Amino acid sequence: APVLDTACFRRWLTETTRLVRRDSARLTELDAVIGDGDHGANLVRGFGAVGTAVAEARPATPGALLALAGTTLTNTVGGASGPLFGTALRRTGKVLGDRPAPTGIELAGALDVGLRSVQKLGGAEVGDATLVDALAPGVAALAEATGAGRPLREALDEACRAAREGAEATAGLQARKGRASYLGERSIGHQDAGAHSVALLMEALRTAVET
Ligand code: ADP
Ligand code: MG
Ligand code: MG
Repeated sequence: APVLDTACFRRWLTETTRLVRRDSARLTELDAVIGDGDHGANLVRGFGAVGTAVAEARPATPGALLALAGTTLTNTVGGASGPLFGTALRRTGKVLGDRPAPTGIELAGALDVGLRSVQKLGGAEVGDATLVDALAPGVAALAEATGAGRPLREALDEACRAAREGAEATAGLQARKGRASYLGERSIGHQDAGAHSVALLMEALRTAVET
């Protein structure tokens, strides 16, 4: 069975960096239509800085690793996504504490606290066409599947699917938070960039667990 140890979480971050670089143009394009067109560049810069910080500090536990990653994102990304993703990862790391390898259920619970901290910080509910629309269903699917005793790989398949569907569904919604909300009804018909990044993070986690 896969183990959620520090090496696995390090793979999560490096795979996230790879996917964010790969899809940078697409993320920027989505943000250009209803925002300011910097989302890809923001995350490339942020996760690049995370890689440097992790290589220097070499955190020993999953919790310390995610806390460092979160703090680094908050401090290096100027856009809204930096503090939001940063807070999610930092709070998730704090909940994991100094456990050497949390269970899937524990990870799902920690991510749920991360989700709540994002909602508290940004004020977005599900349906406001933000990254919460991918994160909330993704975390819920992970919690439900791990709670039902499903293998972690299967649980992450469910979480990836739910996050992807949530991201795609933002196209039909009016944005009520973030820059896209300035467009009012004209934001309807366009997918949210940050929700796509959440789907990438979920995919990266699945890859990290599989390898
Ligand atoms: P900025 O909008 O400051 O340029 P980014 O382009 O990096 O920052 O990130 C934009 C993304 O951040 C949006 O696509 C959306 O998913 C997310 N976002 C913005 N504001 C909020 C908020 N208040 N709550 C949740 N997510 C938000
Ligand atoms: Mg932007
Ligand atoms: Mg910006």
